[in-house]
Amino acid sequence: MPDQRPLGPDDSVECVVGIGPKTALVLASMGISRVADLLFHLPRRYEDRGRVLTIDDARKRRGPVLLHGRLVVHSGRYLRRRLHIADGELKDESGCIPVRWFNQPWIVERLESGVDAFVYGALGQARTGRLQLVNPEIEIASRSSAVDTLVPVYGKLGPLAGKRLKKVLDQAFGCLAGVVDPIPVTVRRELALPGLAEALYSLHRPELPDEADKRDRVVAELNRGATSGHTRLAFDELLAIASVVAGDRARRLEQTASPVQLSAGFKEKARKLLPFALTSAQHRVVGEILDDLGRSVPMARLLQGDVGSGKTAVAILAIFAVLGSGRQAALMAPTELLAEQLHHSISATLGAQGARVRLLTGSVSAAEGRSIRSEVATGETNVLVGTHALFQEGVAYHDLGLVIIDEQHRFGVAQRQRLLDKGDSPHLLVMTATPIPRSLALTLYGDLDLSIIDELPPGRSPIRTEIRGSDARERIFRFLRSEIEEGGQCYIVYPLIETSDTIAAAALQEHEAGVRKALDGVEIGILHGRLGREDRERVSERFRTGKLKAILATTVIEVGVDVPAASVMVIESADRFGLSQLHQLRGRVGRGARQSWCILVTSDEPTEGARQRLRVLEQTTDGFAIAEADLEHRGPGELTGMRQWGVESLRFANLLRHPELVVRTRSVARQLARQGRLDEVREELLRRHRIGAEFSIG
Ligand code: ADP
Ligand code: MG
Repeated sequence: MPDQRPLGPDDSVECVVGIGPKTALVLASMGISRVADLLFHLPRRYEDRGRVLTIDDARKRRGPVLLHGRLVVHSGRYLRRRLHIADGELKDESGCIPVRWFNQPWIVERLESGVDAFVYGALGQARTGRLQLVNPEIEIASRSSAVDTLVPVYGKLGPLAGKRLKKVLDQAFGCLAGVVDPIPVTVRRELALPGLAEALYSLHRPELPDEADKRDRVVAELNRGATSGHTRLAFDELLAIASVVAGDRARRLEQTASPVQLSAGFKEKARKLLPFALTSAQHRVVGEILDDLGRSVPMARLLQGDVGSGKTAVAILAIFAVLGSGRQAALMAPTELLAEQLHHSISATLGAQGARVRLLTGSVSAAEGRSIRSEVATGETNVLVGTHALFQEGVAYHDLGLVIIDEQHRFGVAQRQRLLDKGDSPHLLVMTATPIPRSLALTLYGDLDLSIIDELPPGRSPIRTEIRGSDARERIFRFLRSEIEEGGQCYIVYPLIETSDTIAAAALQEHEAGVRKALDGVEIGILHGRLGREDRERVSERFRTGKLKAILATTVIEVGVDVPAASVMVIESADRFGLSQLHQLRGRVGRGARQSWCILVTSDEPTEGARQRLRVLEQTTDGFAIAEADLEHRGPGELTGMRQWGVESLRFANLLRHPELVVRTRSVARQLARQGRLDEVREELLRRHRIGAEFSIG
């Protein structure tokens, strides 16, 4: 006797006919384990097959259309092995259109004598310029004149596709009514959002109005993801993120930190610590941080300041304050190079004040690692600078009072949390140069207080940015030579270390010989991620002291390299990079008084769109405007580092298109937190929407 119990939404997917243990395993790896999870596999697009057009009308439309007429194949032949072409035509009362089939040799025999058929496909332009149908779907009219109306088209789901997928989805669909909506009705009403089951129903089995123009509009909305069903799912995704953020915040407000008491001579000593006076923006921000540190709730502050605005100096002062109260500070950076540079600056300033500053990265030797860990555990080392190594198992802090994360956007929330967990409610300062639009900031950093450095240190002259084709290289080299002769230093950045078969972009190793020849007599260094720490430090040091005049590098120099004499940044295959990343790279120059230049060299055949995009950099040095442009061109997933936040796993929500939803989800999440329902709702949403695991911290 087969099991007669009907499928429930919480049953394992293995209960579905057509899903065996192997398939279930693959689905589980995609986060799909329950029957209800299958319902979130939505159609990729919708095809209106209920509306038969004449060939004449179809010519004026884009996208797939349904036609009805006499279909006939005239000829078929193999052009070469494995390439069969069949040609024919479809004719109705309005006209006639050529039809071509690739690799369907059987079609010749089937349609040789002509049939009355429904034909579904998009009209495309052949090389000759005339319109034709290619590999259309065919339904012989005499056999079944019932034509589907609106057909949802599903993409593959793991190993499931076609008829098998449909069978599986149909079964899941049967338990739609039992799906529990995690969003309270009151919230839904307030925002006029459909219930979850209703939303899913409307997306899997949309209903169409009869009137032709209304019908077209609904199909277009479905395909654009702009129906109320879509909005509901977008809301759920954003609420998932907002509830993680709200959870963090609620937890933090419950913690107590030990307030940092500033010693009597702190201000005086702090002033002497740095070789320059703070800008008024830095001054303000340091004040905000010291206020926070003096409280008994742990600080959680985001310091946003454009590249070169002097965030490191602020970090140093925060560390200095915490050291005064006898506690430890940890400063984490995303790359070894940056960690090394920070270690260098901090040792140089705080070392003289009696701090013991050490560097812990993946490249330190085993023996050195042991010595560092033991010093950190006893508290002898009171400032630890490093990479991900800082939160690994085996690193125990004596009394971690402050965590600083530089270039925060490169880390996930979970990583940040792991470092925080090393202390007893330590204060947190995260720093980023990636200015992000307000809607994103609210989503991603909603639990953090914001400090902004909106002023650059004095004496900087604006960087001049120019776009050049690769044919201008010789002239660029002449320019570099004259700059170097006059005391400048330069970087040349390549997207790749070595030539790749799959990515058409300039590679450092391929260009090196040519550059050395063109800059004959100039001391040149190489810097990329595959070098060992010693080589890297030697090259950085020699460049800093001016022995090397030019560095050929990959994007490892994007963060952390700080050499004021550097005045020219040449970026090869610049169209391969995101705007924010280019802006960061450009920020490596213009740090001194010299007029600085950024030369963006395009790849051999840049598209017009790519050039257009680069022009944003020619026109502005405002990191905020650049981030916005990036977001528009490439979407949030591409914006530097947004990946780690799980934003790319948003399938329905668009942070640009739904700013008002973002704001609403924030208040809904806080409301749920007050009602004590937040944890439950968050777990459900994160699981359903499979939002980046990195993002979900338990
Ligand atoms: P970022 O904000 O990009 O991390 P850095 O902290 O690396 O910037 O600072 C960029 C450069 O500006 C460094 O060379 C630093 O010494 C210098 N700098 C920072 N603050 C000031 C200031 N108030 N006056 C002069 N130079 C400063
Ligand atoms: Mg920095």
